[in-house]
Amino acid sequence: MTAIWFPTDEVLVGGVWSRLDGTLPVIDPSTGEGIGAIARGGADQIDAAVAAARAALTGDWGRLTAAERGRLMARLAGLIRERAEDLALIEALDVGKPLTQARADALAMARYFEFYGGAADKVMGDTIPYLDGYSVWTLREPHGVTAHIVPWNYPMQILGRSVGAALAMGNACVVKPAEDACLTALALARLADEAGFPAGAINIVTGLGSEAGAALAGHPGINHVSFTGSVGVGRAIQAAAAQNIVPVTLELGGKSPQIVYADADLDRALPFLVNAGIQNAGQTCSCGARILVERPRMAEVVDRMADRYRALRVGPALDDLDLGPLISARQKATVERYLAQGAGLTVAAQGTIVEGAPEGGHYVAPTLFTDVSPDHVLAREEIFGPAQVVIPFDTEDEAIAIANGTDYGLVAGVWTADMGRALRASRRIRSGQVFLNNYGAGGGVELPFGGHGLSGHGREKGFEALYGFSTLKTVAAWHG
Ligand code: NAP
Ligand code: MG
Repeated sequence: MTAIWFPTDEVLVGGVWSRLDGTLPVIDPSTGEGIGAIARGGADQIDAAVAAARAALTGDWGRLTAAERGRLMARLAGLIRERAEDLALIEALDVGKPLTQARADALAMARYFEFYGGAADKVMGDTIPYLDGYSVWTLREPHGVTAHIVPWNYPMQILGRSVGAALAMGNACVVKPAEDACLTALALARLADEAGFPAGAINIVTGLGSEAGAALAGHPGINHVSFTGSVGVGRAIQAAAAQNIVPVTLELGGKSPQIVYADADLDRALPFLVNAGIQNAGQTCSCGARILVERPRMAEVVDRMADRYRALRVGPALDDLDLGPLISARQKATVERYLAQGAGLTVAAQGTIVEGAPEGGHYVAPTLFTDVSPDHVLAREEIFGPAQVVIPFDTEDEAIAIANGTDYGLVAGVWTADMGRALRASRRIRSGQVFLNNYGAGGGVELPFGGHGLSGHGREKGFEALYGFSTLKTVAAWHG
């Protein structure tokens, strides 16, 4: 079965697709088997892509009005919707996402292009009251060439959110998808061609992070870097950008808490508590990995979460179960190393890898650990796999201290019937998003997102991203 309607081993530079000498294999994580190849782009292709993007800024792309950019983006969103089933299937094969989740990602990508396409002609400057005889105003302008280094966990959503906002503001983009997740980025570029985007507005170079990625992050011709990925690579990206004095947006990991007070509506909370941990097999930066429970309801929360865990089924992406495989053998090994460190902890429950799941697939059963100390490594470090820890607490202050007690600060959830306590928590928790009596608000294309501490800095998503993907110019006119 294939939904892949285009050659996968070509890069897009300046509106021209070309095949390179070197390739890298495409692996299906559900089987561990090769299903194709992508081009192994490197510094030469990045040089050419940056030059093509630069040329686009003064060419057909740069000449479009904001409304025309928005119209093109809306057309692209329409094509994504038309091809959503193909995109979902491609993503399921390439990254092992269960089809339902892959379909949701495709529709979220469409939504990003709709949202940002609609916003393109609505970003305005200010007029500033100033000295007698002057008129002063501000202009929002594109940075120029923007670099987009995308991870493998939500390839379509993350590409949509960063490229969508960048294009809306008139930047020209160079995209480096993750080696393990290139196919839907290539598909998107094909659809952008079909939508009529001028050459060079979107360039895609596949390859390794250490080759194409590093060449892009440190390229003197780029004006902004948007990076989503690990803390270690985030540091390297920021160091590279420092050499060129260009702004970076870093969306790194997290160890997000969900605080459950004794008065919480557990019927409402339970699906969120578990889904936020196991969605995308836990390979989610905003994974709600730490469940903090007020002691009187500890046993009940653990029992009810355990029931859900026991019902979770893991298997091939095309079987569309609760969880698919992890992205790679390497990621599986990393997660298993973490789980081994939980040897002394109480396992409340585990899910099941279905019978007949291919031997070579990268499957890990989801695991719920209970009565975990906040100091334990599994309560502090990001596992990026399907595991959650339950931590008891006694007081509001203690809950907040534990919630804020990691090096991260991306997302938090608070479950309580006491709105005063919920609102206090929303002020006291140090993270980019706080959800009260929900978690994730359904994805929320419209909602600004980003981190504190090791979770990174800068905000993507929502209208806020449009400010990040533009620069402000002040014009002062003296007219007497
Ligand atoms: P990663 O190794 O940091 O990779 C992310 C991207 O950077 C990939 O495109 C990768 O390319 C590229 N890259 C790797 N080395 C590079 C280098 N030296 N220079 C430039 N680019 C380089 O992260 P990952 O393992 O794919 O993703 C997992 C991590 O990302 C987790 O820690 C997770 O929390 C974080 N994450 C955060 C968010 C968020 O929004 N906050 C979202 C998703 C993931 P290759 O893969 O081709 O090497
Ligand atoms: Mg793959």
